[in-house]
Amino acid sequence: MSATVVTGIGELVTCAGADGGTPVLGAVIPAGDRLGTVVDAAVVVEGGRVAWVGPGRAAPEADRRVDVGGRAVVPGFVDSHSHLVFAGDRAAEFSARMAGVAYDGGGIGESVAATRAATDAELRGLLRRRVAEMRALGTTTVEVKSGYGLTTTDEERSLRLAREVTEETTFLGAHVVPPESADRTAYLDLVTGPMLTACAPHARWVDVFCEPAAPRAFTEDEARRVLLAGREAGLGLRVHGNQLSSGPGVRLAVELGAASVDHCTYLTDADVAALVSAAGRTVATLLPGVEFSTRSPYPDARRLLDAGVDVALATDCNPGTCNTASMPFVLALAVREMGMTAAEALVAATVGGARGLRRPDIGRVAVGSRADLAVLEAPSHDHLAYRPGMPLARALDLP
Ligand SMILES: [Zn+2]
Repeated sequence: MSATVVTGIGELVTCAGADGGTPVLGAVIPAGDRLGTVVDAAVVVEGGRVAWVGPGRAAPEADRRVDVGGRAVVPGFVDSHSHLVFAGDRAAEFSARMAGVAYDGGGIGESVAATRAATDAELRGLLRRRVAEMRALGTTTVEVKSGYGLTTTDEERSLRLAREVTEETTFLGAHVVPPESADRTAYLDLVTGPMLTACAPHARWVDVFCEPAAPRAFTEDEARRVLLAGREAGLGLRVHGNQLSSGPGVRLAVELGAASVDHCTYLTDADVAALVSAAGRTVATLLPGVEFSTRSPYPDARRLLDAGVDVALATDCNPGTCNTASMPFVLALAVREMGMTAAEALVAATVGGARGLRRPDIGRVAVGSRADLAVLEAPSHDHLAYRPGMPLARALDLP
């Protein structure tokens, strides 16, 4: 097995301090630096894993050398919430919303129709392009949901295609009750029966849009039914909750031990307390690109962090409410609009996402972790929020 040493790293953020992890060899890391920052660092990669991390002057010899010329390196972003399998777009809906039309979760039907009409080759092409866009912006792991098929065949196909680009695939047949279905109970029978059976082999997770305020989304009891059936089929649990109102999603996710509850925009004190009690088990994943794109109030990240909740940041990239694949953009929103520090946002976009996917092998740069590195056209990670909208981050391709 040949090794590559990455040298010339002006600032290496390991995020190891945020999540335990192997101490960095011979590096002086100030106490209380949760980012585990090493100045003038090097990383040795072997067989796709990090084999050594430390100061550049102490770097061992390797078969190959990649010099990043003083740039900053951070863990590749972990985008733990996306809906990349879709065709068509809803730019007109976005423009209408910006002109004052409210979002109620109803426009999904348009994406469902376009997705069903697309060929496998078309969907595969769209999906691969979106994943490539993410990688070009520093994302090295992405979770991908189904949810624009809403028939057994179309959901199975969405997950089969998603599996080609990521291990982190999520069955979201319970995205909404599809437009052609007048009978909610019959649709739930399908989602928890034949559709689940067809989809489970291609999925790691099951998810549900639990939002009584949205007429075609699901109530607490309906969501519980979907999650329990998914668990029975061997899937891990995720929940879309508390996006449009302080509904039951957070409480349900905590009750069932879901890995993540996503959105968390409207929270009661009891919801926050439930999330605190679930720290280490259930992550609150914030998706501020949605609030940006729907012109809605942002989640109160400060309240969650100060209470001790595990927080992740993700894009929710989807055609309706947030059509961006950019984690740096999300990070900038989190810092500018949600009161997170630059360090907190970076941890939430890396370690936080990894926790939300229960993946201790990603989200940080430590011996044994996957060699997923993002290099920045900048001397430090602060530039991600300081220079919003600039193409600063890219996944580092190693030979
Ligand atoms: Zn979503």
